Amino acid sequence: MTDPAALCLACNFCCDGTLFDFAEVPEGESLHPALRQGAKGGKPGFHQPCPCSDTTGCLIYASRPGVCRDFRCVTLDAFAQSRITFSHALQRVEGLRRLANEARALAGGESIADCARALQGLSAEQAATPEGRRLALVLAAIQRTTSLHFGAAAADTSPARHTTQR
Ligand code: SF4
Ligand code: SF4
Repeated sequence: MTDPAALCLACNFCCDGTLFDFAEVPEGESLHPALRQGAKGGKPGFHQPCPCSDTTGCLIYASRPGVCRDFRCVTLDAFAQSRITFSHALQRVEGLRRLANEARALAGGESIADCARALQGLSAEQAATPEGRRLALVLAAIQRTTSLHFGAAAADTSPARHTTQR
């Protein structure tokens, strides 16, 4: 059986701004200096896309924040418990990646949250163009796919991360 870590390495949505644009951490947790630390809604955390994310994985793996250690999405959970195959899990990942790439190309955002903000900032005239309508459709599809397949698994107890649509 393939190691669940291989799925996260192939996916990387937890780190690249697809699912989250900000990860909350508990008050007082010390964070690696390479992270883009900040605050949102009065809560401390770090911004995403994460500068510590690399094609080889997390560059600060041994000292990554607790939220990164603890988060487990529905798809990773299903694969780890052999309810879906690795190839099925990868299909889900590739489906969301296609949508996320299209949203970034249309909106020019780094994170999907940036793309959603770009959509909100369009004038009525811009939103009615083929590109504006397509962006709205793609972001809606991302929201559906994310809530179906990439939300926190029931057992996950990590603090909330802010996503595009929340
Ligand atoms: S979204 Fe799921 S599969 Fe992807 S990196 Fe995060 S926990 Fe792993
Ligand atoms: S610290 Fe590592 S695991 Fe956490 S978001 Fe950044 S790259 Fe991902």
